[in-house]
Parts: sequence; structure tokens; C-alpha cells
Amino acid sequence: MKIAVIGAGFGGMAAAYDLRKSEHEVTIFEAADHVGGLASGFKEPYWDWSVEKFYHHWFQSDRSMLGLIRELGWEDKVIFPRPLTVMYYKGKFYPFDSIFKMALFPGLGWGINKIRFGFVGLFLRLTNNWHNLERVTTDAWMLKWAGREVYEKMWKPLLIGKFGPFYKDVNMAWMWARIKARSTRLGTFEGGFQKFADLFADRLREKGVEMRLGTQVKSIKQASEKGLVVETAKKEQFDKVLVTMSPGIMAKLCPDLPESYLKGLLELKSMGAVVMVLALKHQLSEQGYYWFNLPKEAGYPMLALVEHTNFVGPEHFGGDYIVYAGDYLEAGHEYFSLSDAQLLERFLPAFKKFNPTFEKDWVKKIWVSKTNYAQPVPLVDHSRNIPEIETPIPGLYFASMSQVYPWDRGTNFAVEIGRRAAKMMMTR
Ligand SMILES: Cc1cc2nc3c(=O)[nH]c(=O)nc-3n(C[C@H](O)[C@H](O)[C@H](O)COP(=O)(O)OP(=O)(O)OC[C@H]3O[C@@H](n4cnc5c(N)ncnc54)[C@H](O)[C@@H]3O)c2cc1C
Repeated sequence: MKIAVIGAGFGGMAAAYDLRKSEHEVTIFEAADHVGGLASGFKEPYWDWSVEKFYHHWFQSDRSMLGLIRELGWEDKVIFPRPLTVMYYKGKFYPFDSIFKMALFPGLGWGINKIRFGFVGLFLRLTNNWHNLERVTTDAWMLKWAGREVYEKMWKPLLIGKFGPFYKDVNMAWMWARIKARSTRLGTFEGGFQKFADLFADRLREKGVEMRLGTQVKSIKQASEKGLVVETAKKEQFDKVLVTMSPGIMAKLCPDLPESYLKGLLELKSMGAVVMVLALKHQLSEQGYYWFNLPKEAGYPMLALVEHTNFVGPEHFGGDYIVYAGDYLEAGHEYFSLSDAQLLERFLPAFKKFNPTFEKDWVKKIWVSKTNYAQPVPLVDHSRNIPEIETPIPGLYFASMSQVYPWDRGTNFAVEIGRRAAKMMMTR
């Protein structure tokens, strides 16, 4: 078959890999001039490693991604350091990267709250019955089982940070999946995610996949007889097409989709993200903390402060200390329209809270990345509203972050759904 894959993120590339292995003729169309999608990165000329535009790491439970890397023969390039994650409480930061450390968090005191927190954590780790959990919001479930104090101190800040105005609508299966599928040790690829994406793209080219970078797809329509027409600067016909972008772009690209499928795509909610990367002259967290969870109510201008070089050393970045300051935001939030310099002015006053000796002249350079599609919002009974991978148009398939449910989106699940879609394309 002649197959087009739209998008060279990890989902599209994983699908192309399997399709090509089965000897299909595969072309990838990618609007950007590089592969990697949301997990792509950039590099200063004097850095050995790249930095992701949006902070990225893997969990030890990321079976699909780690399995793919093993198949490609690069498992020796995956490293799993044990960086330190901390949570803010009354002006100080406390370790917060395992249920055990969370149980020691002083915000809960030592009485019944700690016991409820422990039992809820244990229950969620042990149960597999997420179908029941998706029928209720996290807000309602946590208030009932963890209690108001535990919920408000531990879980609500996380929900507000990720989902902003939608925090009360998120279903409990999302929280279950997050607790179930995460590990304390965090992984990355030697050289950064972009290095991995580039190696993967080279492997695809070697195997005969045609990779068209800098080629934006404008529409996908049914051909007059059989197959689909992909429109870029020209029009080309394919037997099958896989789309891997957001539901909103899918709806725009494929106007022939029936009303009911289009409606399903357009009703899906998601949050955007604005992330600043800073190259600093000095280390920010002298305690070596990697990830700072920052509750909105504590007044920080960002949700997370991530010191990447407390995860992988500054020697990979020519001695620069790399810090991310980021937030998940609803479309239309003012951060999307601020200039990079204005955003820096918003963020900088908070930096002294991580290190009182911080000065503005520590900042060597900044980069800001923005996306409207960063985090799908799973509402109650979400499993009934997920668009099918096989669309009602014969030969047209769709695999996005919004369909990896109940799991929280991530490159691991992009690989999983990409490969699942490829299998469906070859067997139906
Ligand atoms: C702030 C943030 C933090 C994250 N942290 C992590 C993390 O720590 N670990 C993790 O594993 N994952 C993380 N993720 C999620 C991860 O980046 C995504 O789940 C994954 O990259 C999605 O891959 P994909 O292939 O499905 O889509 P994408 O990566 O979005 O790929 C889609 C591709 O389609 C291209 N495209 C769009 N429109 C067109 C068009 N018209 N024509 C042609 N091409 C087009 C885009 O340029 C893009 O390359 C994070 C994401 C964000 C935003």
C-alpha cells in the first residue's frame, strides 16, 4: 500500500517504522523543519546535548518507548538518574518524589490525614478498575476518600496547575493513571530527546521511508474513486493516511468527515503550555533539586521550575545551567501574547525564592515555546467520547494525545498508539 503519515512526532515515526517493516511505501509529511514534534529540542553550537523545548523525561514504566528503543538497538543510550523532586510548603521545599517521601511531607501533620493519604495512595496503586473511577471527578472522589485537608494540600494544587479552570471537571481515572504509571527514577536519551528523534528519522530514511520536512498538509480529501488525496503545495493520492496532530487540526484538515465524528473532535478539551528555557551562568538550586512543584496559591508566576542540569550535568551544555519555567494554560491566557522579554520580567522575581543570591545578570539567554495543544482534559465518562482511530472515511486514521486514555499523554503513549494505528491500517 501507498501510505501517508502526517506528523513526524514520536507517534507518526513509530507508525511509519512498523508500516515500512511490512514493506509498505511510506511518506511522512511534517510541517516543521525538524522531527520530534512536541518532544523536539534545540542546541546552541557549543552544547554537546540538546534541550527539549518543553521539559521531557521518561518513566521506568514507559514500556512502549523503552521497548522501541531496545528494538532499534539503542538501549545503552538511555540513562535513568534519580533526580530530586520537591514540593512547596510554607516557604520551604520538601522531597516529594515517592509515596514514602510524600507521606513524610509536613503539610499533612502526623494524624489521620497522613493515614488517609497513605491508604488512598496504596488503593490507587493496587486497583486496576479505572472504569469505575472515570465515572466521578477527581475533586469529588478525593474529597470523599482522602478528605478535604489531604485533597486541598496534596492533590488540588496539582489539578489546578495542570487543568486551570477545568480542574473540577477532570475524572478520577486520570489521577489513577498518573499514580499507577510513574516511577521515581526519570530517564532521558544521551544527547537529549532531539538526538533520539534524529537517529530514529535517519533509521526510517535508511529503511526507505520518504521524509518530507517543512511540508505542511493543507487538506486530506476522499479521492474520486478509491483512496485519499493529500494536499500540500501539490496533490498526491494515497491508499491510506494516518494523522497524528491535535483533534482541532484534524477537524480542519479533513472537512469530509461526517458531522458526528467532527463534533466529537471539536468537543475534546485541552490545555496549552508556555515554557521558557533559561541558560544561566550559575546553578540555581544549590541543594541540587530538579523539579519544583509550585502551588498557584503560593503566588509563583509558573507551575513548575525545573533545573535540567540537576538531572543531567552542565558539562553537556558547555557549562551553562539550564532551567525551565513553565505553566499549563487555557487558550487566550495572557502569557501566550507576552513577548519573551515581558515573560522573563514576570518570572524573574520568583527566582530569588529558589536561590537568594540569584541576580538578573545570571541569565545568558532565553527561549520561549508555546503550544495550544499540550494536555488533553479527560472529563467524566471520557472513554465514551474518544474518537475512533479508524475514522468513518475509508482509509483515514487518527492517533493523537487525546486518544491514549486512561493514560496521561506522553511520548511512551504516542509510540503505543502510533504502533496500534499502524497495525489497524495493515489488517483492516
Ligand atoms: C509541557 C509538556 C511537557 C511534556 N512532558 C513530557 C514528558 O516529560 N515525557 C513524555 O514522554 N512526554 C511529555 N510530553 C508529551 C509529549 O511531548 C507528547 O505526548 C508526544 O510528543 C506526542 O507525540 P505525537 O507524535 O502524538 O504528537 P506531536 O509530537 O504533536 O507530533 C505531531 C507533529 O505533526 C506536525 N504537524 C502539525 N500540523 C501539521 C500539518 N498541517 N502538516 C504536517 N505536519 C503537521 C507537528 O509539527 C508535529 O511535529 C510533554 C508535553 C508538553 C507540552
